[in-house]
Amino acid sequence: MKERIFLSSPHMGGNEILNVQDAFKKNYIAPLGEYVDKLEQKVKEYVHIENAVALATGTSALHLALKLLNVKKDDIVFCSTLTFSASCNPILYESAIPVFIDSTPESFNMSPKAIEKAFQKYTPKAVIVVNLYGQSADMDKIKEICDKNNVPIIEDAAESLGATYKDRMSGTIGKFGVYSFNGNKIITTSGGGMLVSDDENLIKKAKFLATQARENERHYEHKEIGYNYRMSNISAAIGVGQMDVLEERIAQKKNIFNKYQEGFKEIKDINMMPICDYGKPNYWLSIITINETSNVKPIDIILELEKENIESRPIWKPMHIQPVFKQYDFFNHNENTRSISEKIFDTGLCLPSDTKMTEEQIALVIEIVKKCFNNK
Ligand SMILES: *Cc1c(COP(=O)(O)O)cnc(C)c1O
Repeated sequence: MKERIFLSSPHMGGNEILNVQDAFKKNYIAPLGEYVDKLEQKVKEYVHIENAVALATGTSALHLALKLLNVKKDDIVFCSTLTFSASCNPILYESAIPVFIDSTPESFNMSPKAIEKAFQKYTPKAVIVVNLYGQSADMDKIKEICDKNNVPIIEDAAESLGATYKDRMSGTIGKFGVYSFNGNKIITTSGGGMLVSDDENLIKKAKFLATQARENERHYEHKEIGYNYRMSNISAAIGVGQMDVLEERIAQKKNIFNKYQEGFKEIKDINMMPICDYGKPNYWLSIITINETSNVKPIDIILELEKENIESRPIWKPMHIQPVFKQYDFFNHNENTRSISEKIFDTGLCLPSDTKMTEEQIALVIEIVKKCFNNK
């Protein structure tokens, strides 16, 4: 069997292991320690924000953001429908009610038109805006609508660390930003996340809640329910090394996207995910959609690639058609037609975007995909 080509796998730069060894030497195996502080510092400097807290996962960061915005039972929270379930699961942890918002065809992200309609029916406690596959949503338009209604934004930037929107870093435009360092994200700590905000007090409170809400007393004193949500020093040691190669990874991901774009130029049924000129994506995953009139379906390509031990996968299945969420309300980009998110799900796929791929391997993927079209 040929060596497997992955969708997006961990890619160490070299310093990670040295940092982990250093943490071992100092016996900072226990949670927290200097690498947690260092990782927070590095991310703060990189995205230009004042406050950050390193957490166990991106999901826990989203959960704390909702807690800090006082989201409670039966409160409404708007959320992008085209995303990973982790974006909206924390809404249900708090017994709040998600309302799903369709995508715009322009970026696959939250449709300003659909959220505008949702505001005519509901007043949510918060809005979770996802920056899908490494590209920022059109934040100005969404923020204008949210500001007008006095509703805070949580930016789910789990997939978009390093991307920009106009002159801002993705994840720093909303009241809160959330990053993930899960194994398949652009950089990884093996598992981890971060919550960032301009608001110092809110991040202080997040640290408190993430460490079992232990009061500042010699004995263990608790006035609130807390969580065990902090990142371990060992994970953070990996993350500090990964921050050294983040810019390199973005350049590599962009090269993969550009090679696909060039390679598929003459296949008229293949469209690359649209790239908006309001910012610079981090190109986390290279996404294509296939014209519906084509005989080739995404699954045909997935199966052809799988034969060569190459990993690809469908687009996120929209939340509003998931069995577990389908009873919740949904706002369509264009009324009375199939939603944009469902159309993207039906016609799209994620191509291998692993930064360890060689130029030959990228060329091989292009060749296999093209063959699917030439044989039909
Ligand atoms: C990965 C991901 C998360 C969750 O991050 P974890 O660190 O795996 O908990 C949340 N939202 C989106 C859009 C993601 O892709």
